[in-house]
Amino acid sequence: MNKTILVTGGTGYIGSWVVKMLLEKGYTVRMTVRNKNKKEKYAYLSDIADKSDGKLEIWEADLLTEGSFNKAAKGADAIIHMASPFTLRFKDAQKDLIDPAVNGTRNVLEAANQSGTVKKVVLTSSVAAVHGDNVDMKEQGLDEFTEEHFNTSSSLEHQPYSYSKVKAEKEAWKIHDAQNDWQLVVINPSFVLGPALAKSSDSESLSFMKDMLTGKYHMGAPELMFGFVDVRDVAQAHLLALENDNASGRHILSERTAGVFDAAQIIKSKFGSKYKLPVMKSPKMMLYLVGWMFGLTTKFIKRNVGHPIKLNTTKSKQELGLKYTPLDKTIEDMVLQMQQDNILA
Ligand code: NDP
Repeated sequence: MNKTILVTGGTGYIGSWVVKMLLEKGYTVRMTVRNKNKKEKYAYLSDIADKSDGKLEIWEADLLTEGSFNKAAKGADAIIHMASPFTLRFKDAQKDLIDPAVNGTRNVLEAANQSGTVKKVVLTSSVAAVHGDNVDMKEQGLDEFTEEHFNTSSSLEHQPYSYSKVKAEKEAWKIHDAQNDWQLVVINPSFVLGPALAKSSDSESLSFMKDMLTGKYHMGAPELMFGFVDVRDVAQAHLLALENDNASGRHILSERTAGVFDAAQIIKSKFGSKYKLPVMKSPKMMLYLVGWMFGLTTKFIKRNVGHPIKLNTTKSKQELGLKYTPLDKTIEDMVLQMQQDNILA
């Protein structure tokens, strides 16, 4: 194999699985981190590298610093760009979400342009770049969302994380279309669950499960519907996108759509009454009153709670050949990992 892949966001929840899989397939992984001295963020990946056929190089780069990725990109055959904040707990949406997502994408792709060696970029976008509020589907007269659709309802004020993802992906396509050196393949995962390797991550995927198991939704689960996908399948999709010469365009990833209450029911079926799981679905009227406690605005509740969504995932199965892990197994493995790592103590 012996190819060198520049990976951004490799210390993250999804990224650490991607790095592991690349190393185990014998790649040289050139992983960028913000601060090389924070070894605890990647020591476990060095251990994986030692036992694998691959090689792990650690380089320093920051999404917010222009030119930061140029040196690391020189000599790399491909880039997997995953780094971007995935948090709903931010102070300033522009500074904390949009700037790292959009300027970071620009910095990484400009590094690809300047490298003279990079032939492919795999970008981690999101279904948040495909649609904003769940009600968008009905308002746009659609039966389902496909790779043709782009989020038009998010803004700096309303669903800024989703806005950061659609703006970043559009910027990537713009930079891609202005050159002929490298190909762009985009992965659009729905909400990712499953066991974590990452030792410190701010990902909302991990907070969601922790909140669920520690009783945040005990009195009632908001009737919010998401696509769900296993973190290991998301990582696998990145490798398939990297290795398949016929992969092109965007790829929605989702094993199935389900509600928060459905996810809780799966936990209950596997772990009985061990956790303070939601006892019912929260009536929408009730959410208007207490939604602020969960960080939900009135507009968000109105446009998302109780509105179904459907995601077309044919392309991920047919073009990438991705095989999905059932959600029940994803959730069971995630809870077991959290138990083992004492996350809930
Ligand atoms: P994590 O928070 O676990 O990972 C984010 C990664 O980005 C970390 O490696 C983090 O590095 C890095 N990062 C953040 N800010 C900067 C910066 N300024 N400079 C350099 N690196 C930075 O999140 P996830 O693994 O969940 O998300 C990874 C990607 O997947 C994101 O692009 C996210 O939008 C996307 N995604 C996630 C989904 C999910 O459900 N989890 C669903 C769909 C898409 P550090 O370790 O230093 O903090």
